[in-house]
Amino acid sequence: KGSENYCFLLIASPSDAYYTAPIKVMVEREHSRAAKGGTGAEKVGGNYAGSLQATGRSIGAGFDQPLWLDAATGTNIEELSGMNFAAIVDGALHTPALSGTILPGITRSQGMDVVERTMPIDELLRDIETGRCSELFACGTAAIISPIAEIGDTETRQTPKDINKVAKALKDALLGIQEGRKSDTFGWMADAADVDALTRRLNG
Ligand SMILES: *Cc1c(COP(=O)(O)O)cnc(C)c1O
Repeated sequence: KGSENYCFLLIASPSDAYYTAPIKVMVEREHSRAAKGGTGAEKVGGNYAGSLQATGRSIGAGFDQPLWLDAATGTNIEELSGMNFAAIVDGALHTPALSGTILPGITRSQGMDVVERTMPIDELLRDIETGRCSELFACGTAAIISPIAEIGDTETRQTPKDINKVAKALKDALLGIQEGRKSDTFGWMADAADVDALTRRLNG
């Protein structure tokens, strides 16, 4: 049974970007990462353990990691194993709507039209082919912004028209704020030496 007493520990450490080069993702058609009613929307260790086999297979096929589809229908894009997914379609940023099985990442966009919607994988692959979708990237706090250079499916491999164009602009803007080079108009930054102010923020 679950313990009645436990200690909740947070471990913080600095992290560099996950990948130094644009990544290659492989559409995962067999396994799924998270199902409705499960823990997909939480940062839970088990979610990552469950993704390792598919990650190994994607690396074996010449990619870096899988792109997960929804468990219920296997047709809609969810996210990557540790990052959210975004595509530039007709100049706007499209990202899968939160479904309860996606980690609701805090790395959100600024100064762009954003469309949160159901994103069928087959439609996205067609949009890349026709050029409607110009760019793909992944994002997350530790990952920052990771441009995607290639997306592979069972028989196809596609390269978007642009690699690291919008992604680079967003990354520069985000890092600029985090590293104090750009003014923070969002109230994200806090003085780490001001313990009272930090405690107030944590307590909402
Ligand atoms: C951490 C993580 C993200 C990104 O979340 P952020 O709050 O932006 O850091 C997205 N998906 C998964 C599975 C994650 O573990």
